Amino acid sequence: MKNFDRSIEAYQQAVELMPGGVNSPVRAFNSVNMDPIFMERGKGSKIYDIDGQEYIDYVLSWGPLILGHADDRVVEALKKTTELGTSFGTPTQIENKLAQLVIERVPSMEMLRMVNSGTEATMSALRAARGYTGRDKILKFEGNYHGHGDSLLIKAGSGVATLGLPDSPGVPESIAQNTITVPYNDLESVQYVFSKYGKDLAAVIIEPVSGNMGVVPPEENFLQELRKLTQDNGTVLIFDEVMTGFRVGYHCAQGHFEVTPDMTCLGKVIGGGLPVGAYGGKREIMERVAPVGDIYQAGTLSGNPLAMTAGFETLSAMTRSEYEKLNKKVDRLVEGFQEAAAEYDIPFTVNRAGSMVGFFFNREHVTDFETANQSDLDLFARYYRGMIEEGIFLPPSQFEGMFLSAAHSDEDIEATIDAARKVFSKLARQ
Ligand code: PMP
Repeated sequence: MKNFDRSIEAYQQAVELMPGGVNSPVRAFNSVNMDPIFMERGKGSKIYDIDGQEYIDYVLSWGPLILGHADDRVVEALKKTTELGTSFGTPTQIENKLAQLVIERVPSMEMLRMVNSGTEATMSALRAARGYTGRDKILKFEGNYHGHGDSLLIKAGSGVATLGLPDSPGVPESIAQNTITVPYNDLESVQYVFSKYGKDLAAVIIEPVSGNMGVVPPEENFLQELRKLTQDNGTVLIFDEVMTGFRVGYHCAQGHFEVTPDMTCLGKVIGGGLPVGAYGGKREIMERVAPVGDIYQAGTLSGNPLAMTAGFETLSAMTRSEYEKLNKKVDRLVEGFQEAAAEYDIPFTVNRAGSMVGFFFNREHVTDFETANQSDLDLFARYYRGMIEEGIFLPPSQFEGMFLSAAHSDEDIEATIDAARKVFSKLARQ
């Protein structure tokens, strides 16, 4: 049995200091009926808790660590950058380097602005889209999460779905009424909204693969149809690729599905584990942003040298062949889990995009928030605790995807499949 004495003690202290003892809600492990585990360090695919126990990590800081923990190239570059000073509040060359790399690889990016989080990226992109179109309304999808900005915290996924809090108090009604939501993958509803409000819609914002209600890919032609409808109505199409960016593939989800939005939001991987976000897209829209244009957005630490360095090293290391190798590992993991679940007749379905994987305890195919919600959450919680005992660290919610890194070895994958088989066999007997 694992021993969590130190984690429990740290948690007891933390709950007095921070709401729920955490600085972001899903870290609290509410939905798996456990106290959170405090971590101390990570190396490669492994993470170590403060009681000294090792886990194979599939959280990877909720996506950013595509090279695994404390990658030598990233750490060395960070040491050098730190010695030169951590922040100047002036332009630096490393900002150009990362921006250039991102613009080269992301089809929709003609220009971008660096910010400090995914939330900032989506809030800023929305403001740009509203300023550019002179319209107020936006369309988003149920179970998609775009950070905690007022306009976007409506029928959102991630922690909001995990805790069953679809609409947060504190979001003024006057703001909420400009956000229209429809089910993910439901083209008819989108068409209806456009027929009613087409010329009032500033933006459609979507996770091109949803990763915040578990992993849910777009159905055939869904993104293509969104592209057409937005184009016909002068509405800005925003892909929120904070999670999918450089995770689903070398050219992000938009390259994978060959649909180019007007604007893109990024975060996670482009910061290599440091706090970063970015938004950008068409030059015509981005040139409306201050100081060239009249739409205001700023940040004291935006483009911070440490964050830019970690992002640049991470993206540079993720060559096309690295994505191919990573995808093969994911293929094997998915195959192993499917075989194990079938062997013990566990209700189980898998969605996957690149190295984002969603395992649902559900017999039905999951295509939207409603079907995701029909998963067996109690079974998930028991599976989760079983996997922790086996030394496998997973996101503590059925509504979050898991991630693999280039540092995960074939042995890690086989050990994880063996752990799942063991846990499934126990669940089948309960
Ligand atoms: N958009 C998406 C698609 C996300 O997954 C997230 C975070 N998980 C965000 C936006 C918000 O990013 P952050 O937590 O960095 O503010």
